[in-house]
Amino acid sequence: MKAALIVFDGAADRPLKKLKGRTPLEAASTPNFDRAASMGVNGIVDVLAPGVPPGSDIAHLALFGYDALKVYRGRGALEALGAGFKVKPRDVAFRGNLATMRGELVVDRRAGRIDTATASEIVRSLGKLSSKKHPEVKVFLLHTTEHRLALVLRGPGLSPHVSDTDPGKVGQPLLKAKPLTGEALKTAEVVNEVTAEIRRKLKGHPLNRERAKRKLLPANAVVFRGAGVLPEIESFTGRFKVKAAFIAVTSLIRGVCLAAGMKNIPVKGATGTTKTNLYGKAEGLVKALKTYDFCFLHVKGTDNASHDGNLEEKIAMIERLDEMIGYLLDNLNLEETYLAVTADHATPVTVGNHTGDPVPLTILGPEVLSDGVKAFSERSCARGGLGRIRGKDVINILMNYLGKVKKLGA
Ligand code: ZN
Ligand code: ZN
Repeated sequence: MKAALIVFDGAADRPLKKLKGRTPLEAASTPNFDRAASMGVNGIVDVLAPGVPPGSDIAHLALFGYDALKVYRGRGALEALGAGFKVKPRDVAFRGNLATMRGELVVDRRAGRIDTATASEIVRSLGKLSSKKHPEVKVFLLHTTEHRLALVLRGPGLSPHVSDTDPGKVGQPLLKAKPLTGEALKTAEVVNEVTAEIRRKLKGHPLNRERAKRKLLPANAVVFRGAGVLPEIESFTGRFKVKAAFIAVTSLIRGVCLAAGMKNIPVKGATGTTKTNLYGKAEGLVKALKTYDFCFLHVKGTDNASHDGNLEEKIAMIERLDEMIGYLLDNLNLEETYLAVTADHATPVTVGNHTGDPVPLTILGPEVLSDGVKAFSERSCARGGLGRIRGKDVINILMNYLGKVKKLGA
């Protein structure tokens, strides 16, 4: 028996006036989602807790069955791990952006959405970074995509309890990292020194002079946020004795999967955007289940469209996902495969951010008791046989069908 978990990032939503009170999942044409719901048992999921909006990282920890509120230690280390850096247990890491400053104010938090090639060259040209005050701390700055970076600090006495330097809004001064607990002073000092060193090196940088000529914003600063260390969690294989793999390209989600000990299945043309190669991902999942017992598949596009408040794009993305579900229903061996489909949180297009609303869930497979629900949506799934459950229960429900959950008691 095999199992797959598919998460459509931020796919859940709220009823919209524009859609006559329907949600995007209800308004989109989704014959295959609805076929899956009809075959399966359905429910709604409070991924962390009722009414609590989760970030995608902590939400995935919960959906993978961990006690997310206990084990989550910040975003930075997961992001760096997902970007391909071998993060060690005591490393403190941050998510960073190349940014544009005018005087002491941050005027663009993405350096005019700088392209990946230029950003990577700028980061490479920074060379080795270090702290004069704390030379025993090793500093690694990695570029990922576009304006995105990760900063990893390695050395004795570091702490993730430092505040962000990213003001989070434009027109605000670059912030100083501050220790949030007594032992975090050293880490804050290193972050502030590194930030100043980067600003010095980027001032009048030849690539920035070139950008100015093309009327593009200079990448003349870096802002950091989300300090974190890796969560201490038991691997998926350790917990359920299954060989587990994942298909995901967003580095934050990749980081969670790698921290959970899953193996990466690369897919050509998978981009983490609305333009991603969904067919390739679906095909990758079918293939992965020939070798692995469990495969997780993540699609980011629904969340991107929602953050942009783009309803048309969200509905179009849902309809593309529907074709993907159709391909999976036709090509997976459903005599020996359990399939769970859900979202990691709602991202209502009217809000443009994550909310604490429950998300729909369908589980189908050879011995699943179907419940009469006929459509995959926030409203229909709420009437299903699974009722209203917590995020951390989803994986147990799935693994129970595989006989992989340990019996409690005698
Ligand atoms: Zn998410
Ligand atoms: Zn999001």
